[in-house]
Amino acid sequence: MSKRTYFPAMFALCLTAAAVAADKPAAGSDPIARMRQLTEQGFPVVDYHAHLKGGLTLDELLAHGKQTGIRYGVAPNCGKGFPITTDDGIREYLKSMRGKGVLLGMQAEGREWVTMFSKETVAQFDYVFSDAMTFTDHRGQRVRLWIKEEVDVPDKEAFMELLLGKIVGILDNEPIDIYVNPTFLPDVIAKDYDALWTKPRMERVIDAAVRNGVAIEINARYRLPSPAFIKLAKSKGAKFSFGTNNGDRDLGRLEYCLDMVKECGLTAADMFMPKPDGKKPVQIKGFKK
Ligand SMILES: [Zn+2]
Repeated sequence: MSKRTYFPAMFALCLTAAAVAADKPAAGSDPIARMRQLTEQGFPVVDYHAHLKGGLTLDELLAHGKQTGIRYGVAPNCGKGFPITTDDGIREYLKSMRGKGVLLGMQAEGREWVTMFSKETVAQFDYVFSDAMTFTDHRGQRVRLWIKEEVDVPDKEAFMELLLGKIVGILDNEPIDIYVNPTFLPDVIAKDYDALWTKPRMERVIDAAVRNGVAIEINARYRLPSPAFIKLAKSKGAKFSFGTNNGDRDLGRLEYCLDMVKECGLTAADMFMPKPDGKKPVQIKGFKK
């Protein structure tokens, strides 16, 4: 299979592998019926953010996809302190995963990843995504926002400004396709989400995503971003992807994503599609030195 035909062939394979039974869709809130309905309408029901974690096997993921009608993109975590840290690691991983009926995503971790891999090797993935949950904070410490013990927020407003700078910096400087776990706040301030994510702050993130052609994930696990954010992003021409970011064997059924499609009036035209070879962000933007 040549590089040029790799992407469409892969995607067609996904469609075939996860082709859903021809049952007529039932109306109502059953997620499987809703996904079948969307698929029949040409809406891409793809979860681009699945992990083979907690013992979940590829066969189990494919079976879940067949049962639910969800097509999957599977991603390993790549970066400092994660399972894949070198070009060789990427090549080995991709060799083991090609032709298996899933799209191949790269979760780029931390801010160091841009110095760890070559763009030619990264471009072998179908798409690349990252989040803004790992960075160096006001104390000069590397923090992971989902780990309570590492997070220090003495001043919420100052934290938001720091976070905003990190998100916009990633969108402007890192060659990613999708910004995932978007607008995530650490546990200590999560309850203030609506107050802290002011409209000007939402706009800074959305504008950066749009000007860089980076899609925004609608995350099923964290139920992020908020409907207000998604509506504003849609009005500004942002693209969206669905993602679960499963931390264990539970892949779920994209419930929050389906709710947001309905609530925010998303159509197929609002949704992300992986770029063909030659047009990937890592090939166009490369790594800034
Ligand atoms: Zn993830």
